[in-house]
Amino acid sequence: MASPGVSGAAYARGMTLVAILSGAGISTDSGIPDYRGPKGLWRKDPEAEKLVTYDFYMADPEIRRRSWQMRRTSATWAAEPNAAHRAVAELERSGTPVRVITQNVDGLHQLAGLPARKVLELHGTAREVVCTRCHARSPMAGALARVEAGEADPPCTVCGGILKSATVMFGERLDPVVLGEAVSIAKACEVFIAVGTTLQVQPAASLAGIAVDNGARLIVVNAEPTPYDELAEATIREPIGTALPALLKRLAADGAPGAEGS
Ligand SMILES: [Zn+2]
Repeated sequence: MASPGVSGAAYARGMTLVAILSGAGISTDSGIPDYRGPKGLWRKDPEAEKLVTYDFYMADPEIRRRSWQMRRTSATWAAEPNAAHRAVAELERSGTPVRVITQNVDGLHQLAGLPARKVLELHGTAREVVCTRCHARSPMAGALARVEAGEADPPCTVCGGILKSATVMFGERLDPVVLGEAVSIAKACEVFIAVGTTLQVQPAASLAGIAVDNGARLIVVNAEPTPYDELAEATIREPIGTALPALLKRLAADGAPGAEGS
């Protein structure tokens, strides 16, 4: 797997590394509600929360059957990237070194054209399934086709084990390798933009503090106040779909290659 780490030569050339931490708020314009945040749909509905909680899922075939039905009807499959996702991809194409750390599992940054190696998915991806026994991965679309064809709880085709979405369920740890790379990016970046996240879920939220501790400028783009606003150079409350493209355009103009006297 290509590493989205921070050892690339681009940073040595004095270009501004921009880290973008994105949360549910960046995808609401694409029709995807906030499921897992502190005020998310799952947290407000204990029955729904069981469907995405590892121990319940593994213990109960009925929970898995309902979970597959929920995945089958997820808003994610019809969702298109919006102006904010496209603006991030555009910033990357403009030559500015960009790394996205996302709490979202919808894959919309990549669909907008951002290379997958530039995206760290802290909570995994809904677009793949993984076997809980042999860890084989395959596209979600294939598993959903089996559900459509009548398999209520399709097992792993390799070993027969229980399949799950390749997302981090409640009760599961974040991938330590992914988290380690996110910390490296937070330490190395010069600008850290938190967008559409309440910065209330750890350890993702702490990345903002790590970035500031290591000298980065913090910019918060979110409708509501966050615990990190006091550390931020700027807080932007306007709608993300217009605010982020405008912000990134300014950033690209200021931090363009050659603009720092090189
Ligand atoms: Zn398996």
